[in-house]
This record gives sequence, structure tokens and C-alpha cells, in this order.
Amino acid sequence: MRVSRSLTIKQMATVSGVAVVTILIFIVIQLFHFVQQRRIDYAQQMENVAHTVRQPLSQSVLKADIGQAERILNSLKPAGILARAEVVLPNGLQTLHTDFEPTKPVPKLIATIFELPVQITVPLYSVGPSNPKPLALLVLQADSWRVYQFILSALSTMVTTYLLLALILSVAISWCINKLIVRPLRRIAAELHDLPPQEAIGHQLALPARHRDDELGMLIRSYNHNQQVIETVHDEMRRLTTRVALTNLPNQTLFLALLEQHINAIADKDGFTLMVLRIETLQEANGVVADEQRDALTLTLLDKIRNCIDGQTLTGQLSDSDFVLLMKRATPVRAMRMARLLLLRLTQPVMLHEMQIRPSLSIGMATREDAHLSATELLSRAASAMMSARLEGKNQILFFDATMTERAHKRLTQEHDILQGLSDGQFALFLQPQIDMRSGQPVGAEVLLRMRQPDGSWSLPEDLIVSAEESGVIHALGRWVFEEACRVLAGWQKRGITLPLSVNISAVQLREPDRVAHLQTLIQQYQIAPGSLMLELTETAQVGEPALALRLLNDLQQAGVAVALDDFGMGYANLNWLSQFKSLPVSKLKMDRSFVSPLPEENAMVRIVAAIAEIMQLEVIAEGVETVEQRDWLLARGIHIGQGYLYAGALPIAEFERLYF
Ligand code: C2E
Ligand code: CA
Ligand code: CA
Repeated sequence: MRVSRSLTIKQMATVSGVAVVTILIFIVIQLFHFVQQRRIDYAQQMENVAHTVRQPLSQSVLKADIGQAERILNSLKPAGILARAEVVLPNGLQTLHTDFEPTKPVPKLIATIFELPVQITVPLYSVGPSNPKPLALLVLQADSWRVYQFILSALSTMVTTYLLLALILSVAISWCINKLIVRPLRRIAAELHDLPPQEAIGHQLALPARHRDDELGMLIRSYNHNQQVIETVHDEMRRLTTRVALTNLPNQTLFLALLEQHINAIADKDGFTLMVLRIETLQEANGVVADEQRDALTLTLLDKIRNCIDGQTLTGQLSDSDFVLLMKRATPVRAMRMARLLLLRLTQPVMLHEMQIRPSLSIGMATREDAHLSATELLSRAASAMMSARLEGKNQILFFDATMTERAHKRLTQEHDILQGLSDGQFALFLQPQIDMRSGQPVGAEVLLRMRQPDGSWSLPEDLIVSAEESGVIHALGRWVFEEACRVLAGWQKRGITLPLSVNISAVQLREPDRVAHLQTLIQQYQIAPGSLMLELTETAQVGEPALALRLLNDLQQAGVAVALDDFGMGYANLNWLSQFKSLPVSKLKMDRSFVSPLPEENAMVRIVAAIAEIMQLEVIAEGVETVEQRDWLLARGIHIGQGYLYAGALPIAEFERLYF
């Protein structure tokens, strides 16, 4: 790299320019001074000359002796500085004059500037003080050409001297600046220019001893400091953004950073699952098979992993054999399902250069139950779960939390059982009557799901609904329940029976996008009379946003479906909800069993719920009426509809029909 205009040239041009201007001003001032001095000298000399001839000249003028006067004037000639002498009368009339020598002309400009020619005037008096008026004036004029010659020689001397001085000074100053500034700068520029790119970050300049305390030193120190900062940032970036060369997956550091980012971005209540996956085969292959074969196997298996995961999963690689997956928004059950799928796919035999390999792996998982766990802690939990899984044998899946493993396995088994059960006719609807306790006549029935048990009995496994909700199979199950309920209702209505049916619906089900549309289709298909299908919405599993709930409930009402709030008193005790009740298209409250069972001794809650129902003008159904005392107490408080073992439990449909129709 070459500089197009060196600092040396620039500073030299500047120094010279300044010097020339200064010198010029200097010369002009000095010249005027010298010329002035010379003028005074000339005037002085001419004064002296005038005095020597004054006396005789006055007498000859007084006698009007022109010849004498001319002689006297001519006698002045040898005083070499004079160019002209004349005698002038006081009225300005010139009487006589002498030009000593024809003088050479002086340039007009010079004459004007320096007020040339120099001349003096001396008065000539008659003898005696009696006549103070001069007889005439003697005018002497100096030779301007001489002055001009003087100016020229002074000027040339000064110009040559000063220019020489300026030249010496410029060179001296340039040399100093060059040595002090330009050369160190040139050295730095050359060093930076020749720096190989890979050494550019973190490069340090040597600090010359002579420049420790000056601006150059400051520049170098600042440069070095900035380089250090850049190097730290660069190192950090490199540490964070490293990927594994073969798979191009984020390494542990980058993955942890991404995980940390995810943790910070999501809300505290949002969960996710972290999965550490060790492919034992890859670890065993270390040193046994050729590197290329091992790499090929890694890529094949990674391809399989990629085929299993969705867009919500982030993959990283912890070591040659360990991979890590961040499954955003995955519940333990979904994560377990994914783990099982991975296990299934990855353990399929792989052909590797005419060698069949059946990979085995261990999977460990950790969920974010505790919002305060850091990325590192979560990863080490998942990794430690993976190590525990290894100890259990080949192809095992473990959660860090052992109970979670069990639960997730159970849920998945249940999910499988539910889907299997639906297609095998393992489910049935049972009906529990809702009785007008005054007459003992049924006014409705609640549809309760039952599953056939291995011993042939029918019951609802305690966590079946929750587990179905968690795995999402609740939608298939719910559709089946609605369809069955509509079939029953349609059958009854054909027989002229108008008893309404209440079907339970969970909040998860209600949020299913085409829930209302599906119900509408069923109602039309089975020609269900409006109001004969009621939904029991469990309040404990709130729909979420009141506004959303309101919209869904309105849609249901439009579809001709009535809504009862189930287990009332357990979860809606939220004033915000209560205040919206009036506008909710809800027709019934089901008072939770836990309020009814302590009756008649403890009755405060029942009275409160009854009061709310009265204000809202909603009908109340008491759940879990088991004793006559409870029934009587309720009747005495104006609660007429009851449901419970006092009348009947959940009955098979045929049994229900036999008893009540
Ligand atoms: P739930 O809606 O509160 O249902 C009432 C539960 O109380 C039923 O239990 C019923 O058998 C029981 N029960 C009725 N009378 C008495 C009584 O006098 N004493 C006692 N101790 N219990 C009584 P079940 O059938 O086990 O249902 C449990 C929960 O499962 C239900 O609570 C409901 O929320 C849900 N569920 C049942 N079937 C379905 C369904 O088809 N879909 C949905 N989403 N949920 C359902
Ligand atoms: Ca219910
Ligand atoms: Ca209930």
C-alpha cells in the first residue's frame, strides 16, 4: 500500500508556505524602515549643503545678482546626492534652477510608494532680524535613482537571506517531524498492512520507548486495548457459535446458549422437555471401524432423528455419540412418545459397507417443572437420566424424575389402550338419572363413560380422562361419546321419550377447533330436539380466557345445546367469572358433591351456592345425594333436582331404560 501524498510533503508544503508569507511581511516592513532611514539621511545631508550656501545665496538674491546665484548653485554639484537645486520666490515663481545631471527615471509605482524624490526647502533671509519674511526659498532635490538602487539592493539581499533561512528552517522542521511522527506512523502502517488476516484479531502493536508518554503512545495503547476487547468478544462468539463439523449441529456450548435463550423467551408456566440420546453403537464403533464408516453411520442415524422430530425441536450434539433434543412445548407424555418413536426407528438394522448393524441407544429426559432451573442444570439432569437408562440395559428411556417415567409410560399405554378400546368396543355409555326429588321422577340423565375391565366389570379408570387429555386422545374419545349420546337420544325421541341427556365435556375438548361444528352436524344428523342435549362443563378445568369461553358457549347455544356448570363451587369462585355469569348462556349449576356429602351438619357452602344460583336465576342440581337426610335438607332449601346413589349410580343404558321408561 502506497500513500499518494506523504505527510512529509504535506507538512513541508505547509511550513514553507507559512515561512514565505511571514518572510514577505517581514521584508516589506524592513524595507520601509530602511528606505525611511535613507530618506532621513539624504534630507540631513541636503540640509547641511543648504546651510553652507545659504548666506552667499541670500546676498546674491538680495542684490539680484543672478550670475552669482547660478554660480553658487552650480557649486553644489559635487555633493553627489543632489539631482536638482532651485531658488523659488515666496509667491511660487521659480527664478532659477540647476539640473546637475540628467537623472535616470524611477518606476512610477516605486516613486509613489516611497514618496520620491526626497526634497528639502530652506528659506533665504536678508541680513538682520528686521525682516522676518524670507526673500526666496532654496529647494534641493535628492537623486531618486540612487534611492531606487538602494531599494533594489536591500530587497534582493533580504529576499535571498530570508529565503535561505526559510529553506533551512523548513528542512530542519521536516526532518524533526519525519523522525518523530512520520517514520513511526509509517512503521505502524506497514506492520498493519502486512498483517496476515488470521492474526488481525487480537494483534498488538509494540510501544516504542520514546513514545510512551505522547499522543502516538496513546494511539498505540488505545489500539492494543481495543484489540483485546475485540479478541474477548470474538472468543466468546466463537465459543458460542461453534457447530460440530461433521453434522453441523450446535455443540454443547451453542446448544446451552440456545436453550438459555428459549428459557428466557417463554413464560414460566410453559413447559418443555430436554432429551439426551446416547447412541451406544457410535461409541462402540470408536476405533473399531474406519472413521469414514463411523461418519456415515452418524449421518444415517442423524437423518433418522431428523425424520422423527418436528419443527418445534432443536437438535444439538454433545459428543461423538451423544445428541440432545430440545422439544419445545412437549409434555412428558409427548416426549415419551417421541422417545419411543426414536427408539423404534434408530434401532432398525442399518447396512454399513456390507455389514449389518443394529444400533442401540439410551435416552434420558428432563422436563422443566421447576421454572428456576438453568439450562446447564436441565442438561445435566437429562444427561444423568440417560446414564441411569444405560445402567438399566439396552434401549431404555428414563426421565430424571423416576415417577415421571412411570407416569409417561402409563399414559402412553393408556393412550394405546383407549384407541384400541374404541375400535374393540371396550367403551360404553352408562346413564345416571337426575331426579326431581319431590316426585322421585327422572328429569334427565348424565352420560358417564365406562370402560370394560379385565375382570369383565365396567368402570372409569381414575386418571383416564386426564391422561386422554394429556395425550390428545380425548378428542377421539369425546367424539365417540357425543355420537353415542346422540344415537341414544335419537332412539328415545323416536319412541316419544323426551328425557334430556347431559354429556361431560372437558375444557381441552371445548378448545378443539371444530368442536361446535361437529356437534351441529350430529344434532342435524340425528335430528335432536333443541335443548335435549346438555353439556356439563367442568369449571375446575376452566376454558381459559372468559372472553373465549363466552364465545364458545354462545356458539353452543346457537347450535341448540344447553350448558350446565359442573362441580360448581370448586373453581368458578372467581369474582370475574361470577360477574360474567349473567351474560353466560348457562342454564344449570351442578353443586359439587363435596358440598352435599357433609349435609345436613355443614351447610354453609350449599347455602352460598344456592344463593348465587338464585341471583343468577339458574336451576341447581345437587350431586352425590346419598342419604334421605341430605335429600330432605335440600328440598327444604328449595333445591329440587338431585343426582346420586340414593336414587341410582351409573347404569347400563338397558338397565336405565328398564327402570325409568
Ligand atoms: P362428574 O361429571 O362430576 O361425574 C360425576 C361422578 O360422580 C361420576 O363418577 C359418578 O359415578 C359419581 N357419582 C354419582 N353419584 C354419586 C354419589 O352419590 N356418590 C358418589 N361418591 N359418587 C357419585 P365417574 O363416572 O367416575 O366420573 C368421574 C368424572 O369423569 C366425571 O365427574 C366427569 O368429570 C368425568 N367424565 C365421565 N364421563 C365423561 C365423558 O364422557 N367425557 C368427559 N369429558 N368426562 C367424563
Ligand atoms: Ca358431570
Ligand atoms: Ca360433577
